[in-house]
Amino acid sequence: MEIQELINKLNELEQLQYAYRYAMGITNFDGNTVAPKNSYKARGQAMAILSGETYKKFINEEVKELLFSLKENEKQLDFTTLRKVDEYIDEYEKTSKIPMNEFMEYTKLQSDSNHAWEQAKANNDFKGFAPYLEKMFEFNKRFANYRNPEKKPYNVHLDDFEKGMEMDDIDKFFNQLKKDVVPLIKDAVNESKGIREDFLERPFPVDKQKELSSLLTDVLKMDKDNFIIAESEHPFTMGLNNFDVRFTTHYYENMIASSFYSTMHEAGHAIYGLNHDLKYNGTVLSGGASNGVHESQSRFYENLVGRSKQFINYIYPTMKNLFPDQLSDVSANEFYRAVNKPKLSLIRIEADELTYSLHIMVRYEIERMMFEEKVNVNDLPAIWNSKYEEYLGITPPNDTKGVLQDVHWAFGLIGYFPSYALGSAYASQFLSKMKETVSFDSDVAKGDFSNINAWLKDNIQIHGAVYTPKQLIERVCNEPFNPKYYADYLKGKFSDL
Ligand SMILES: [Zn+2]
Repeated sequence: MEIQELINKLNELEQLQYAYRYAMGITNFDGNTVAPKNSYKARGQAMAILSGETYKKFINEEVKELLFSLKENEKQLDFTTLRKVDEYIDEYEKTSKIPMNEFMEYTKLQSDSNHAWEQAKANNDFKGFAPYLEKMFEFNKRFANYRNPEKKPYNVHLDDFEKGMEMDDIDKFFNQLKKDVVPLIKDAVNESKGIREDFLERPFPVDKQKELSSLLTDVLKMDKDNFIIAESEHPFTMGLNNFDVRFTTHYYENMIASSFYSTMHEAGHAIYGLNHDLKYNGTVLSGGASNGVHESQSRFYENLVGRSKQFINYIYPTMKNLFPDQLSDVSANEFYRAVNKPKLSLIRIEADELTYSLHIMVRYEIERMMFEEKVNVNDLPAIWNSKYEEYLGITPPNDTKGVLQDVHWAFGLIGYFPSYALGSAYASQFLSKMKETVSFDSDVAKGDFSNINAWLKDNIQIHGAVYTPKQLIERVCNEPFNPKYYADYLKGKFSDL
């Protein structure tokens, strides 16, 4: 076959994959936002069929031959096509090693387990969720063994979310945080005890919070024709293409900071999803470089921008307009200090910047134990609670606020958590580089995001999934990943709250 014919076939495959991804993406989004509660079973069945079909269309001799013929002729391929071929071969090898019936069974389990988790969390009933969680870990261990029996199963999972990262790397990273960040926590928490935050729990009408979310996306220069904001228990973003990104947030009347920062965070993911080069649209290269790099963008907007003094000073008059009664006796500086107050808290997504990585450390250590040691799933609540006591000095009063708080494990996302902490660290390193050419502080103080957005787009977002995290960081920063920037940022910020 001529090379051009092979490339045409690859394009056809890509379009078909895109259509299935699109259908399943919309179905998932619907299930997590507006679908009625009892729709989960039928959706699970439909998703099982759709994922079975994608499997058949992708895992077969014809596709295998196509991919490997292209690879054999790699000298004739342009850079983008070769990157696609490599991604597909990677994906092919990952998927083809899992028997189709188990793959379909697993997709069904994801849906059932997600539902069981929702019920369990609502009713503080870990026992109701435990059998699903156990199956989830069993499946994932087995899949890791099918895929790469030479590698430790947990390393296979870590690599899925952060290519090239293994337990040794993550241990080094967390050890660095233990050395540089953990010692700051006690003093910072003690010194900020007097910071008032009573007003954050005043009733802020939900319709006004929605208005604020919408205004925030305007400030960030997001084009409303290309995205929507919906609501879900656990906020998330789904990017379909450059013209259709959906993200969710949640609104609690007595938690204004929760919707504010969920919106800023997911908006960061959404901006990334809208900004890859158009030539990658609908292709396997349209996602981000990795989960960690995606988190670097969401955390950039949530924390480095949203929790900065400059941004709060800028947005505060708007907030005062929306919430005149609730904020009548609160200054911008008091608001700034309240949303940054370091606390020994229970809930990861409500955690302050300083203690956030400790929440991740607990999850990382538990996942590692589940993979490496014989741990009974029924012991997880007790293990969780004792680790919270050890690192954060606090014990969850119930499992809803403990081991049941996150959706990740229910959905089989194991090995995902470390990327959150890595994302914060990447973001600090990117910011330090950005400041060489962009007047970040004064731009944020003016609410002017043109240069900031352009820098992130041109250096990071436009490249889609073309580079691995390590390649991208070296390319952008002219040096390898270095967690020192993150530690310095935290030290600077929390010594001067
Ligand atoms: Zn995120």
